[in-house]
Amino acid sequence: MAKSAEVKLAVFGKAGVGKSALVVRFLTKRFIWEYDPTLESTYRHQANIDDEVVNMEILDTAGQEDMLQREGHVRWGDGFIIVYDITDRGSFEEVPPLKGLLDEVKKPKSVILALVANKADLEHARQVSTEEGERLAAELACAFYECSACTGEGCVSEAFLELCREVRRRRMVQ
Ligand code: GDP
Ligand code: MG
Repeated sequence: MAKSAEVKLAVFGKAGVGKSALVVRFLTKRFIWEYDPTLESTYRHQANIDDEVVNMEILDTAGQEDMLQREGHVRWGDGFIIVYDITDRGSFEEVPPLKGLLDEVKKPKSVILALVANKADLEHARQVSTEEGERLAAELACAFYECSACTGEGCVSEAFLELCREVRRRRMVQ
């Protein structure tokens, strides 16, 4: 019988970058246009990853929390996705401070992170180049995905699944 594992993933990023759209795209393979921007939700999802049943809990944060709430979310999570919007440079600039918070609350070496550049379908309105995203991911020592929750292009599922794999790998070597 396959073993089962519990993995908790938290999704961070400025309000409006598409966190909810990405989570829903991953869970349903569909795009839904509007969510309550103040809403924070937790979803449960079971995935079969490399012959193992993984029970995922995904926390879709609202992006408007105070510091104390954010720290609680970081403590809760095993792995993290920080999302920015390629059409909003301000959302890109919020990434390093968020990573700083992860490092502060967790031990820096144990932070398991993926950086996701969303809204890749809006090429005409792009403010952050793919190279800048890649460079930042290299600095933060994390995986990088450029994608669109809207069209589904660019491995949305891969970002979530690969993060789960990494959480599992790190647990095995601990
Ligand atoms: P959140 O506040 O980070 O959860 O952002 P939402 O998921 O609520 O998305 C904010 C807005 O951006 C909504 O109007 C979405 O329809 C839109 N949006 C989200 N992802 C994409 C995307 O990949 N492409 C485009 N064009 N719009 C998106
Ligand atoms: Mg949201």
